[in-house]
Amino acid sequence: LLLPVGIVVAMLLVGALIWGVRRRLSPLGELSLAVKRAEFVVHYQPIIELASGRCIGAEALVRWRRPDGTMVRPDLFIPLAEESGLILPITDQVIRSVVSELKALLVSDRGLHIAINLSADDIKSGRALNSVAAALLHTGIEPQQIWLEATERGFMDVNSARVTLTNARSTGYAVAIDDFGTGYSSLSYLQTLPLDALKIDKSFVDTIGTDSATSSVTRHIISMAKTLGLGIVAEGVETQEQADYLRKHRVEYVQGWLYAKAMPAADFIAYYRLNRARVPQVPEDEDDGL
Ligand code: C2E
Ligand code: MG
Ligand code: MG
Ligand code: MG
Repeated sequence: LLLPVGIVVAMLLVGALIWGVRRRLSPLGELSLAVKRAEFVVHYQPIIELASGRCIGAEALVRWRRPDGTMVRPDLFIPLAEESGLILPITDQVIRSVVSELKALLVSDRGLHIAINLSADDIKSGRALNSVAAALLHTGIEPQQIWLEATERGFMDVNSARVTLTNARSTGYAVAIDDFGTGYSSLSYLQTLPLDALKIDKSFVDTIGTDSATSSVTRHIISMAKTLGLGIVAEGVETQEQADYLRKHRVEYVQGWLYAKAMPAADFIAYYRLNRARVPQVPEDEDDGL
């Protein structure tokens, strides 16, 4: 009789222990459980071609949907994911979600592009490129439909960055530097790395229309990008005045709440169908010829 009682007591103790640990999981413990349970969802923010007003793609932006249904913004868990190495499996989940949710639309419309955010470890390890290649295999999606973006932090290890970016571009993906202007030694990165495009950070877009010194920096970022032959995407466009300024200075693409916020896949698919063929809203001659 003692033996079964002992077993039951032991099981109760183990159960209590597991329950206790579960309840008092550290933030890192919670995040790694979220990775195991694949609790991440991707929202899509439309990218608009300024000259035509057409939607030509979207940026994939990850959110953590907790079991209780609350959505956690990426700013609140990406830093921990990057510190702990959990970013690699999260990036994999984002890539797989993008492909499974948008495959049909990407294959039926080659004008659709999806931008995926990569972290420093994704670039350094090069693993993200294998994940994208594996996810695209046999889907019919063209590599040219995939844009990869990373902040300057992702390019700090310049040698591995150069290898990864060169591989990415030879496969056909376009590569953009994200949040441009917020890091440091921006100019040296721009000159030495094989890049296709530059995303102007929202903090610079915010200064458009003000008289601040930063506003003229914004103008110089645009002309420098053009000198280097880089495409330009302005992020965080919220006002018509900002859009008009960017159009006047021939910035090709914009993202921002003036157009649309990030939205779930089903909503983006509906949005894209309505906005992919938009007619120009502004006559050509409004351009000042700069
Ligand atoms: P980001 O890549 O610069 O993305 C742009 C952020 O600005 C997004 O925030 C977007 O929702 C927000 N935004 C866009 N337009 C406007 C606007 O007009 N006004 C305002 N106030 N905000 C606007 P979100 O989705 O919270 O993402 C924050 C950051 O988290 C991203 O900045 C990116 O650095 C990171 N992130 C998001 N998804 C991923 C991912 O899958 N992987 C990695 N490594 N990082 C990600
Ligand atoms: Mg981004
Ligand atoms: Mg950005
Ligand atoms: Mg940003």
